[in-house]
Amino acid sequence: MNTKNKYIILVCSIILLLVVTQVIIQYSISVQKHDSHLINLSGQQRMLSQNISKKALLVFHQKDNFAHLQTHQKELNQLAQQFKEVHLGLLTRDSNLGLGGENSIVIKQKLEDIEPYFTALLENATALTNVSKKDNLQPFVDEIMKNEHLFLVQMNAIVNQYDKEATQRVASLQRIEIILGVTTFIVLILEILLIFMPLIKSLVQRTKEVEQSNLNLQKRNEELTLSKQKIKQQNTEILEKNEELFLAKQTAEAAAISKANFLSNMSHEIRTPMNGVLGITNILMEENPTETQRKHLGLLKYSAENLLNIINDILDYGKIESGKLRLEKETFDIHQTLNNIKELLVHKSDEKNIDFVLDTDLDLPRFIQGDPYRLNQILINLVGNAIKFTKKGSVTLTTKIIGEQADDLLLFFAVKDTGIGIPKDKQKLIFENFTQANDSTNRVYGGTGLGLAISKKLLELMGGKIELQSELGKGSKFSFALRLGKAKQATIQKDTLLPIKERTLHYKGIKKILLVDDNMLNLSVGQRFLNYWDLECDIAKNGQEALEMVIQNEYELILMDLQMPVMDGFTAVQEIRLLEGAKYKSENLPIIALTASAVAEVRDRVAKVGMNDFLLKPYKPQELYEILEKHIASRLA
Ligand code: ADP
Repeated sequence: MNTKNKYIILVCSIILLLVVTQVIIQYSISVQKHDSHLINLSGQQRMLSQNISKKALLVFHQKDNFAHLQTHQKELNQLAQQFKEVHLGLLTRDSNLGLGGENSIVIKQKLEDIEPYFTALLENATALTNVSKKDNLQPFVDEIMKNEHLFLVQMNAIVNQYDKEATQRVASLQRIEIILGVTTFIVLILEILLIFMPLIKSLVQRTKEVEQSNLNLQKRNEELTLSKQKIKQQNTEILEKNEELFLAKQTAEAAAISKANFLSNMSHEIRTPMNGVLGITNILMEENPTETQRKHLGLLKYSAENLLNIINDILDYGKIESGKLRLEKETFDIHQTLNNIKELLVHKSDEKNIDFVLDTDLDLPRFIQGDPYRLNQILINLVGNAIKFTKKGSVTLTTKIIGEQADDLLLFFAVKDTGIGIPKDKQKLIFENFTQANDSTNRVYGGTGLGLAISKKLLELMGGKIELQSELGKGSKFSFALRLGKAKQATIQKDTLLPIKERTLHYKGIKKILLVDDNMLNLSVGQRFLNYWDLECDIAKNGQEALEMVIQNEYELILMDLQMPVMDGFTAVQEIRLLEGAKYKSENLPIIALTASAVAEVRDRVAKVGMNDFLLKPYKPQELYEILEKHIASRLA
């Protein structure tokens, strides 16, 4: 039982004991009242019996004096009446007389014993009240005297008995009160033992616990202070580390910047002479060379392009690694892309006497949206490899629609060959940079081991994943799926049927083109190309010259090199755009940047200073043609 219940029970017991004690005290007071009345009345009865006998004597002695006799008789009568009433009252314990309860057996017996004396006293006294002076009163008086004595004796015994019984009652009530008192005391002791002591004990215990937890808290506080200090120290260390890291980061960033700059410079330095080499080769090929010369020029072009591809691969890889590669989103002719790949590589497959099959889905729409250059790059790499590593049989480039949504198509591309295959253990490795399946590969087939690594990363950027199935000696299949946008409308229309040299830019009243470059070779190549399409052109050797010529003449379009002495291309364009007059604004005077630098920052800067487009050196006549058509047509249309 819990303390609360014990407490309730004990408090109830105490209340009960107090109530009982109160009741008993009240009862004992009322009993004592009755007893004192009884004793009083008994004493009164004794007195009445004595008065009756005295009055009887007076009646006897005054019988001759009538007047006195009557008075005494009357008084005697009253005494007798009183005597009778008290007697009856004692018998019945009349409540009107302040008596209650019942006489004990002993009292009842004694009252019975006294009855004859009472009756004798009453009858003789009553008789005396009715006698006249002639009657003999002596016997009555004698009778009264005789009985009065006996009555008194009995009455004394009754009074004694009453007294004795009253004393006994008081004694038993006292006993009960003592018992109650003792019980109350015991209950109180129990309360102390069962309630207060445990309460005090638990209080002491709680106090101890509180003291203990206070101590613990203090300890924790100390620990906290210590760990705070530790954290502070760690923070300082972290700050120091951070600083070190920041410095290291700065160093790394500086290294990355110098790496990027190095790549940009290298690319620029190599591309600029390559532009000349390829440009001159292109021009020579157009100038009716002999068969042997054509063959040699072909080899020269092939080697130059190969070298350019290798440089491009290295640059691309650097760009992908540094997260700087940006994908284009433009509408392009996918059928043309696939055909161009075949056109570009079919002579290689022909040389090796293997079939090159283009297996294109008949439902494939002509125009779609995406990055045609990167798709082209991936497919050329895969098909190039397939042809390279196949001795006999065929190479198939498959393009299929495998899913369609409101705005895009899911296309599946696969390049399958019947070549040497790739051993299982090398199938993952070949996607790592600079890795080839076999050490002898380089000796036999050439290559840098970068193509697949770049293709894999490009595909990841485009949301695709390259898969490979291959069996040694039987062939390989490289495949991937790409989500490409549906073209809103067929916007590209080109006169692709004519050879590039024979095409013309059919616009009336077309003004001159300004070609700006510090490299004489590049200037003459550019001039030659422009002449193909009957476009007149002026040349400027730096930004300053260009600026002056723009002010003096009117031009349709400017082809602007970027790195030049005196004034570079960026500054020149900024100055031109600041000139007063609507004709110098970008919508009226398109300026195309010519640069050998392929890094993204250059492209951003080109746009920022107000140039309209970008042509990467070395450019092909086709590329120059397309960019001129794009900007001139859009203005004159
Ligand atoms: P590269 O061709 O310049 O060496 P790649 O990254 O394109 O570099 O290819 C890596 C290697 O994967 C190749 O050297 C060759 O060992 C292997 N490989 C790629 N394509 C094929 C193929 N179709 N058949 C057999 N081996 C291939």
